[in-house]
Amino acid sequence: GRANIGVVGLATMGGNLARNLARHGSAVALFNRSPQRTRDLMAAHGDEGTFIPTESITDFARALARPRTAIIMVKAGEPTDEVIRQLTEVFEPGDIIVDGGNARFTDTIRREAAAREHGLHFVGAGISGGEEGALEGPSIMPGGSVESYETLGPILASIAARVDGEPCVTHVGTDGAGHFVKMVHNGIEYADMQLIGESYDLLRRGAGMTPAEIADVFAAWNRTELDSYLIEITAEVLRQVDAETGLPLVDVIADRAGMKGTGTWTVQTALDLATPVTGIAEAVFARGLSTQTAPREAAQARFTEAQGYPGGTLAVTDRAAFVEAVRQALLAAKLVAYAQGFDEIRAGAARFGWDIDLAAIARIWRGGCIIRAGFLNLIAAAYDGDPADAPASLVLAPHFARLLDAAQGAWRQVVAHATLAGIPVPAFASSLAYFDGLRSPRLPAALVQGQRDLFGAHTYERTDRPGAYHTLWSGDRSEIRVG
Ligand code: NDP
Repeated sequence: GRANIGVVGLATMGGNLARNLARHGSAVALFNRSPQRTRDLMAAHGDEGTFIPTESITDFARALARPRTAIIMVKAGEPTDEVIRQLTEVFEPGDIIVDGGNARFTDTIRREAAAREHGLHFVGAGISGGEEGALEGPSIMPGGSVESYETLGPILASIAARVDGEPCVTHVGTDGAGHFVKMVHNGIEYADMQLIGESYDLLRRGAGMTPAEIADVFAAWNRTELDSYLIEITAEVLRQVDAETGLPLVDVIADRAGMKGTGTWTVQTALDLATPVTGIAEAVFARGLSTQTAPREAAQARFTEAQGYPGGTLAVTDRAAFVEAVRQALLAAKLVAYAQGFDEIRAGAARFGWDIDLAAIARIWRGGCIIRAGFLNLIAAAYDGDPADAPASLVLAPHFARLLDAAQGAWRQVVAHATLAGIPVPAFASSLAYFDGLRSPRLPAALVQGQRDLFGAHTYERTDRPGAYHTLWSGDRSEIRVG
């Protein structure tokens, strides 16, 4: 017999994905550049299902039933291009190459077009859930042709996470749509983690609570609308005690956050689309600031409490009330961050010609991926139905608007108190500014247009009649209509 699916690249992710496929009834062809990895996988897990190990790309292609379908799980970038070149040589028209790595969506668009020239289907599939997800059920975001999804869809559905019986996979859209949506997923993940971090900082420094006490708070929050994987693991991290020092682990970990690029891509893309994703941007910049060791040390030495700067503590008299205010602020700011992420997907879909069902995206994020949460059911409900009736922003969906009605007071208090105390809350504050920007009947954008017209004759529109206008600033200051 032949394999119905193959996996190229058998490191952590590829190996686990291959095992997941085999456990769910697929016959899986295996190939890895270094054959030892393939042998190791067979030795350790070869009895978990049907595997066809191969040690050349030609044998790999021979092992696959047609249309051949292969998932590439190698290092993103040049290695992915190299494997695509190899597969292109041995595959035939109608065959399907899936890239399950963390590719940039623009690379996926380029690769799809190139593969199409050879009559091949190329599917960029975002896969979230890390190592464990790959084995136990990830959230999968495939792009590529509708035709390829007929073959690929059932295979991916067999290995995806399930929520309420529904597999966490959907055909996101053509060419790079899947990797685009995976990118935004990661951006939202950055924002969510930053907001949780700010909440922790407020409770820790602001209210003087211990990591163990805050772990209990997060565990309690996990039984509210905030119920999510990220809140759950936050409690777990905060409870951990360092074996060596006996200190809370969080106090021993260096406060420099790393990143691998998808958050940055989300913000870069949002800038190109002129879609404000302030929560995500602040999260990326906050990680950047955390690694700026030299200026941080110098500023810590120079701008001290002795110099009259606030020292990061809050006078909290009613701790329970404060904890609840932070929870409300977190909920509101999180909603804004998700609203902004979905706006970016909508803007990307419009720009790149993808027909993306936002409700379906929210549904496949309910399980398997890092941002999985009950909250996504509410987002799916908000976007369900005719896209023409979709809310202009998630914050306007009736359920979420009521949530903001209830939370906005606490959100403002938290941002104001944090600011006075000198506790940085960039994501809380920028989300609030964004929300107030949406609500403002008049924005100073009018003044900016005036400035632009003065120095660059960029023209402006008027509130009272159509057309484009320019004031003769260096002349008699009369106004002319220019369009
Ligand atoms: P790595 O990113 O560490 O990549 C290692 C694999 O790539 C090995 O199989 C290696 O082969 C292969 N490889 C590297 N260069 C080449 C090349 N030039 N030609 C052929 N094969 C090559 O593996 P991971 O399993 O961690 O991740 C795989 C992909 O999945 C990446 O794109 C990653 O971004 C993505 N991803 C990872 C997640 C995670 O949690 N780790 C989560 C979601 C996605 P060899 O054994 O011969 O060295």
